[in-house]
Amino acid sequence: MQTTNILDLEMSELKNEIEKLGEPVFRAKQLWQWIYQGTESFDQMSNLPKSFREKLKQHFHIGGMEIAQRMISEKDGTRKYLFATLDGKAVEGVLMKYRYGNSVCLSTQIGCRMGCQFCASAGLGMDRSLTVGEMMAQLLSIQKDIGERVSHVVLMGIGEPFDNYENVIRFLRRLNAPDTMAISYRRMTVSTCGLVPEILRFANEEIPVNLSISLHAPNDEIRAKIMPIAKRYAFDKILSTCHIYTQKTGRRITFEYTLMQGVNDADEHAEELGKRLSGLLCHVNMIPVNPVDGGSFSKSSKERVEAFKSILEEHRIPVTVRRELGGDISAACGQLRKNTLGK
Ligand code: SAH
Repeated sequence: MQTTNILDLEMSELKNEIEKLGEPVFRAKQLWQWIYQGTESFDQMSNLPKSFREKLKQHFHIGGMEIAQRMISEKDGTRKYLFATLDGKAVEGVLMKYRYGNSVCLSTQIGCRMGCQFCASAGLGMDRSLTVGEMMAQLLSIQKDIGERVSHVVLMGIGEPFDNYENVIRFLRRLNAPDTMAISYRRMTVSTCGLVPEILRFANEEIPVNLSISLHAPNDEIRAKIMPIAKRYAFDKILSTCHIYTQKTGRRITFEYTLMQGVNDADEHAEELGKRLSGLLCHVNMIPVNPVDGGSFSKSSKERVEAFKSILEEHRIPVTVRRELGGDISAACGQLRKNTLGK
């Protein structure tokens, strides 16, 4: 019999299940405490009667994600994980250690249907979305592996979070709950390639989670060459949606801009981007592209990155250049899975 991932359940659902098993409802709370402490086996839940633990084993499993591979960067301690799902699929997660705490980058889908040209996941296509419990399991496994609390969560792993909208929102709310991880919304970031209807929906969720939008180009022409989604949502439409978002939430948007040599990194591109973003409550995070095997994109030179940055600054756009972590363990998302699947 197929068992239910207990991490997929909300507290109210768990209570129902417990009642169905003929057990007192207060057991749900005890169980909940164990699982969010990171206990991976019912047998370790010492304050639950043995007969109850046996019943639990028959009906539930915890997490459904196993660490199939783990790589630790010798340079900076970044850890890259390959997780195996119960149905034999693979996703990735990354742990980054910062002065301010431990940050994890998690996957939201097995594969992705967005098809961005420069991304390691694109060529592999889409399999299915991850459940709330599978997202939570990635975090709990990483926390257990490092023996320290995770303080920041970014959804920038494999998949398009807004293509798995309901589960992602439920997951973020669950992470914030005081009886689970109690992670502040302000320490969570969702990244999207620019799905306009979901950005609008997100603006109305009333949760102060950071929003990142993967822009990577100053106009539709260049954007459409590297990101098929640009044909569905035009640059102007994304911009007007961003204005609605910032007005509604008062929150600054981060634009991700991956610099690719000879594609989107010229002075004129920076000029155009600077003009179009001017007046919007935003910030640009520049990332040197991580060349994917067999791909045709290469990193812009340091000088190019600096020149691009200065032009944006002349337009009074705050800019950061993302520090690259875990370069020695192919920590750019999707690469480990791609290597493993051998495509
Ligand atoms: N689908 C979401 C989140 C996952 S990708 C999104 O598009 O935002 C997380 C970030 O990594 C995105 O900004 C994505 O464009 C970027 N990215 C993907 N492949 C990359 C690569 N090879 N080099 C640099 N950044 C990459």
